[in-house]
Amino acid sequence: MAKNLEILEQLQELDLRLDRLRNFIGHYQDFIQALDEERAGMKLRAEEEKIKLDELKKMKGRKELDLKAGEEHIAKCSTRLYAVKTNKEYEGTLKEIGEQKHKNSEIETEILILYDQIDQEEQSLKDARNKFELEEKEVEQKKSELAKKLERAEALLPREEKSREGILSLVPKDFLESYIFIQERLGARALARLIDKICQSCFRVVPSQMYNEVLIGANLLTCPGCNRILVHRETEFLTGKDIFEF
Ligand SMILES: [Zn+2]
Repeated sequence: MAKNLEILEQLQELDLRLDRLRNFIGHYQDFIQALDEERAGMKLRAEEEKIKLDELKKMKGRKELDLKAGEEHIAKCSTRLYAVKTNKEYEGTLKEIGEQKHKNSEIETEILILYDQIDQEEQSLKDARNKFELEEKEVEQKKSELAKKLERAEALLPREEKSREGILSLVPKDFLESYIFIQERLGARALARLIDKICQSCFRVVPSQMYNEVLIGANLLTCPGCNRILVHRETEFLTGKDIFEF
């Protein structure tokens, strides 16, 4: 009996591993897509910084044109001063010049602020582009690691499936039926460790009688909480090797 449970443990080990392999192969494209999206997000951020920078430069260009027009206006007014005929006209032109000078000084201040903003934005764009470049390298590296992993998983899968067939032939029919029945409902993890009357899968405390029976290992018993096959084990099912590595 205990021997049969050991074989079941081996079977579960393989099933978990197969699950992991199939899961990875099945989701490989999703992993790649997630990486591509991450990279696209970084690219978009850099592009947005570029748009902001271009906008600021355009704004500065417009302000510079305004300033130029203002200066031309002052020059015209100054020329007009020599041609005016009345005092009133003279005063009016002087006032116009004064107002334009005030406007120009405001525009100059705005242009100075824009220079600062452009400097800052140029730095932000540089940072965003550097980040994107780094991200691109990282994504390529991760993709190549994933591709290697996929290759290993695809090579391992048929081998592990074959091993499973070998183990299946060693499991008594009634054990296998119970095991498969539980797996169909609960997933690959059909066995649960029992330590000090506590199921390590659902943490239900099992009755003393049941605990003793599991200790003896004379019958195949399932946990009253999670319905998994109980195996008395002080240690993890899998020791030494990590079934999730491939
Ligand atoms: Zn349980």
